[in-house]
Amino acid sequence: MRVITRFPPSPTGYFHIGSARTALFNYLYAAHAGGEMRLRFEDTDTERSKPEFEKDIVESLAWLGIPYTKPEVFRQSERTDIYRDHLKCLIEAGFAYEAEEATGDSAKKVIRFKNPNTRVIFTDLIRGEVSFDTSDLKDFVIARSIDDPLYHLAVVIDDHEMGVTHVIRGEDHISNTPRQILILEALGFVRPIYAHIPLILAPDKTKLSKRHGVVSINQYRAEGYVPEALINYLALLGWNPGGDREVFSLGELIKEFSIERVHKGGAVFDIEKLRWFNRQYLQAMSGAAFHEYIASAFPEGADRSTVQALLPLLRQSISTSGELKKSMTAGEYDFFFEAPTIRAENIPNKGSNPGDACTHLAHARSVLENLPGNAWTSSEGIKVALWEYATGQGRGSVLWPLRYALSGKQRSPDPFIIASIIGKDETLRRIDAALEALTTP
Ligand code: GLU
Repeated sequence: MRVITRFPPSPTGYFHIGSARTALFNYLYAAHAGGEMRLRFEDTDTERSKPEFEKDIVESLAWLGIPYTKPEVFRQSERTDIYRDHLKCLIEAGFAYEAEEATGDSAKKVIRFKNPNTRVIFTDLIRGEVSFDTSDLKDFVIARSIDDPLYHLAVVIDDHEMGVTHVIRGEDHISNTPRQILILEALGFVRPIYAHIPLILAPDKTKLSKRHGVVSINQYRAEGYVPEALINYLALLGWNPGGDREVFSLGELIKEFSIERVHKGGAVFDIEKLRWFNRQYLQAMSGAAFHEYIASAFPEGADRSTVQALLPLLRQSISTSGELKKSMTAGEYDFFFEAPTIRAENIPNKGSNPGDACTHLAHARSVLENLPGNAWTSSEGIKVALWEYATGQGRGSVLWPLRYALSGKQRSPDPFIIASIIGKDETLRRIDAALEALTTP
């Protein structure tokens, strides 16, 4: 049997992180088995379905790199004729009937499914045997009119026509499954295999939604999350690969994925973990790719050689380009590009005095002045040159004044890193400025 899964979003909102994970699990399951995933738009809710959301879903899937095969028919709204034919068959065979539905003072007709009131049992790949007594469902509505089918009917017909073998979807759909099984049996279709995956929960353990903050893929994209990191994180959100390994490429996920290892319980969304994954992928990028990745965070006209020199530091310290942009706008990186304003009283380390700060800065200056150019290409050479002195004299009292002289900040990367980025001339100039501030009454 060739595995065919499906991803049938309703284009009623921007592509949500939960939908992305459902699409990913469907893709991984199919690809692992050598099959395919198909896409269709469930746009029977004509009020809320919008072309812009459809576009966003298509673009987000492409950006994430989740492939799918398009069926010839794409949108439920374009398939009214097909649903009508099946509805007619159901009515003729006595499985459905038209009935008046009293709503307020006007009476309108709907089409109801004649419930056989049986017990429906299906084996869910994640939850095991699931059993429902369908008599509680009464004769449920399957269409508002012969031309206006509802979700349950349309899903069953589409899944059948698309040759879907496996329905992998959110746990919130599990109560829909018995209705859909009743309909498909009445139509004489083969039952697909079901797998209901746990919901993504917010840290407060309620279903993740907009009120918890960012949920749409396009927002994560704008923040500078890379698709590989999102894919990797989403795959592990509810699926356990077995073992400690966490970093997987899409190809590796396809190889490893098994639906039996999807948890039954809800998976809590953890933004810190997602940031961690993003860092892993930023660190694995080539130098050129990383440069391009962060370029947009820098203001136009930023000194190229400084930007170049900052790359190794940024690679170690940032999680996303969005965060870098924020820090940049807040001025946190300004001192790399221009000399900071310093205040004499902030130069000495806490508990040490201006005289000591002066001595240590003067010493550091002379060491650095004599340090050959090739020792400035990495912070390590600068550190080695000053480390022994700093350790002997007290690291805080030597390194704080130096770091402050270079950055003008209470907190910053260490002075070796800053010196290597701004270079020898600028380092000496900033030390001179600090010495002058200390000695000017
Ligand atoms: N259109 C439904 C949704 O977006 C999917 C239903 C299904 O997977 O059967 O929730």
